[in-house]
Amino acid sequence: MAIVSTEGIVLKVHALGDTSRIVAAYTRDYGLRRFVAKGARKTPSRFGFALEPLSRSRFVFYQKPDRDLHLLSQAEVLDPLGSRLTDITRLAHAQASLELVDRLVWGEEPHGELYALLIATLAGCAKAPVGTLAAVTLAFQLQLASELGYRPRLDACAVDGRPVSARRVFSPARGGLLCDGCAGREGGVIVLSPDALASFSLILSRPVADAGEYVELPRAGELFRVVDDFLRMHFQRFQGLRSLEVLRTLENAAPPAVRDTRDAE
Ligand SMILES: [Zn+2]
Repeated sequence: MAIVSTEGIVLKVHALGDTSRIVAAYTRDYGLRRFVAKGARKTPSRFGFALEPLSRSRFVFYQKPDRDLHLLSQAEVLDPLGSRLTDITRLAHAQASLELVDRLVWGEEPHGELYALLIATLAGCAKAPVGTLAAVTLAFQLQLASELGYRPRLDACAVDGRPVSARRVFSPARGGLLCDGCAGREGGVIVLSPDALASFSLILSRPVADAGEYVELPRAGELFRVVDDFLRMHFQRFQGLRSLEVLRTLENAAPPAVRDTRDAE
């Protein structure tokens, strides 16, 4: 049994007995891990903000091979992001990125690019203008899927590599655009608007960190539905992005409001 140290993002936390917690974290050096934090439910807890969802923390834990749960020795908060985000829209988008990691990623293999992508996305959720947060989340969804081996193909037919149809036919099951021939044969296809396709290709190819700087997506709703279908098709545990439902409920209930887009920090 080795004692090891790494940093990570807290994904979710739940109670274990009267005094302890189980913490799921995506770590830089050890992939997805679940820790037992003894005494974490006592107040004040010796762990402070280190075990709050969205926090970036340093974890010291006892690593036991072939165990699903690892005993946490120490945790120290490096960035308590959840406590800094007061805007509900920012919070919902930041939580959406945790939800995606929890649903799409599995196993204890480290994946440095994926960890960096998550860090960049959370920074975007804190800093990007509120109107561009949809772009940040969509970019994360597509780039996370790409890192896991499911990069949507937009440059040629996803089935046979022929030139794509001018009708912009996307197949979630095939994972990309189709040529005219395949478009006529495949079921369950979606015809994209020109704006949605342009945004799709932009956010797939640019760094997540840039998404908030240049994209206020004209067809974000359409793109969310396409990406949702695509992810459901390839990731069994993905059942739609629940974290953003709270925003839809609010938008339906309230009249459009003028929002300050630089309200954080
Ligand atoms: Zn084809």
